[in-house]
Amino acid sequence: MKRPLIFLSFIFCLLAIAPTFAESLSYKLKPVKVAEDTYIFQGSKEHFSLENGGNIVNTGFIITKEGVIVIDTGPSARYGHEMRNAINEVTPLPINRVIVTHHHPDHFLGNQAFSGAPIWALPETIAAIRSEGDAMNENLYRLVGDWMLGTEVIVPGKSVNRSGEQIGEHRLRYIALQGHDIADLAILDETTGVLFAGDQVFMDRAPTTPHADIGKWLESLDQLEEIDFRLIVPGHGPVIGDNEAIRQTREYLQWLVKVLEDAADQGLEMTEVMNLDLPNKFKSLATVEAEYRRSVHHLWPEIVKRKLPKAVDRRID
Ligand SMILES: [Zn+2]
Repeated sequence: MKRPLIFLSFIFCLLAIAPTFAESLSYKLKPVKVAEDTYIFQGSKEHFSLENGGNIVNTGFIITKEGVIVIDTGPSARYGHEMRNAINEVTPLPINRVIVTHHHPDHFLGNQAFSGAPIWALPETIAAIRSEGDAMNENLYRLVGDWMLGTEVIVPGKSVNRSGEQIGEHRLRYIALQGHDIADLAILDETTGVLFAGDQVFMDRAPTTPHADIGKWLESLDQLEEIDFRLIVPGHGPVIGDNEAIRQTREYLQWLVKVLEDAADQGLEMTEVMNLDLPNKFKSLATVEAEYRRSVHHLWPEIVKRKLPKAVDRRID
C-alpha cells in the first residue's frame, strides 16, 4: 500500500506546484529613463526562449500632458500588463495611445493590456496583423510556452497616414519605411530628439530577416541616417547617441547579400551556405550564428531565383 500513497502524494505536490509556477512568471520590467519624459524597457539580445519568455525587444513610452504614448507592447499579454503597471508607477496619467512599429510578434502581442486606448499602426501593418497575427501568436506560444497564456491578437484600429502630430508638448514625426518588414514605422520625437527606430535598426545583435527586402531596407537606413536625432532606440539592443547602430545594421546586411550572391554564383548548395564561416567582425553580434542560418533560409530561394536566368543564359552562350 505504501507505493500508491507515495505516488499519490507526488502527484498532489506536482498539482500544487504547477499553477504557482505559471503565476510566478514575471518579466520584471523596469523602465529606464533615456531622455526627458522618455523611458524604455530593454529586452535581452537573445532569440525567443522558455527562459526569456519572448522579452528580447525594446519597447518604450513618452509622457505628455495629454497622456502617455506607448511604443510597441512586447511579446505577450503578460508583458503588456506588466508594462502598463510599470508605466502607472511612473505617472498617473492615462494612456493616450499605443503605436505599433511593425507586425512582428515581439512588438504587438501585448496590445490587449492597453484596452481602452487607441492603437495606431501603418495601414500595411494593420492588414498584416489581421491576416497573420493568429499564426504568429501560436508560433510564439510554441517557442516560449506559458508566458503566452491568455494572449490574444488585438488588431490596431487607427491608421497612421500622416507625417506627424503634436501630442501635448511633444511633436512626433512619423517616418514610414520598408525593408525589415513589409512596413516599418520609425517615430522621431522632435521635442527630445529620441528616434524610436523599431527593427529597422539593431545594435550589437544580428538583424532578423523573416520578411526582409534588403534593398529597401538599405534605402530606409539611408533615410534614417539623414535624420537629426540625439538618441536612437533600436528594436533590439542598447540605445545609442550616434549612427553606430545604423552603421552596424547596414554593414551586416550588405555583407549578407554579398555572401549569398557570391555563393549562388559559385553554385553552392543551401546547406554549404549555412555552414560558411562568419567574418570575425560580426562574431561579437548576439545570436549571429543562428540568425545567419535563419537568414539563409529566408533569403536563399529568392537569390537563387534571381541568379538562375543568368546561369541559364551563360549555358546557352
Ligand atoms: Zn523585433
